[in-house]
Amino acid sequence: MSPNTILEQGSEFEALKAQLLQAQKLSSVGAIASSVAHEFNNILTSLLNYTKLAMKSQDEDFRNQALDKILKSSQRAATIVNSMLGFARKSSVKKEPVSLAKLLDEVLVLTEKDLHKHQIKLNKIIHDEPTAPVVAVHIEQVLLNLIINARQAMKSGGTLKVELKTCPEQEVAEIIVSDTGHGIQPDNLRKIFDPFFTTKDPDNNNQGGTGLGLSVCRQIIENHQGRMRVESILGKGTSFIIKLPLKAEEETQNTFAETLKTL
Ligand code: ADP
Repeated sequence: MSPNTILEQGSEFEALKAQLLQAQKLSSVGAIASSVAHEFNNILTSLLNYTKLAMKSQDEDFRNQALDKILKSSQRAATIVNSMLGFARKSSVKKEPVSLAKLLDEVLVLTEKDLHKHQIKLNKIIHDEPTAPVVAVHIEQVLLNLIINARQAMKSGGTLKVELKTCPEQEVAEIIVSDTGHGIQPDNLRKIFDPFFTTKDPDNNNQGGTGLGLSVCRQIIENHQGRMRVESILGKGTSFIIKLPLKAEEETQNTFAETLKTL
């Protein structure tokens, strides 16, 4: 095979990988879309009611309180829209220093309604606020996937714990997403990162698992020179542990195509 043919195949492969990433991202947005729409409905109802009350009332204190509620609801709507837009945007794939606590918050804004709807309590533990060189939208995608998987594993409620800390000795940030769900069969632990491995049956809307979520997550984390692993106890719950380097590695890792050009 000529180097040119290999080069073409390399860039086709990269293009397919990018498409897969985008498709997986849209599928995770789809999983929370209806809860986000409901949340907007609630915000709108609150805005309409407080506006009407404020217009009717002659009491200045009461009007101020109503205006305060209107302001808070509008700010919440703006936060949700910004998170959604940030996530859906086909942004650059450049790594930039980003506060991981901020990324986590943006994903939790999108998912908290969905968690609440499924009687899932959130336990957020931020030990410190590391900044790491990441492609923000990709790490958000990983967190969203893990949170959706966790929610799906807790069919009758439970607790989702998200933890963020710095491990200075290893120069990494650690993010742990744990649930108190049904856990993973020991036999399946080795397979869950394989593309197309799923235990989720198609439901009435044909919305079963694709088995692509975790394989894309692992690919994203490895593209950041990070590590991702799982611990699970059947019937008790599952934890996904992600480690991300705090320092950008020298761009020694040429892309596949670039490496081939030098052959
Ligand atoms: P999908 O969600 O489409 O099935 P994933 O690659 O995200 O694809 O997950 C693969 C499989 O890993 C799931 O079908 C499920 O069996 C298992 N899994 C992932 N996350 C969890 C979790 N938090 N608890 C239990 N099982 C999980």
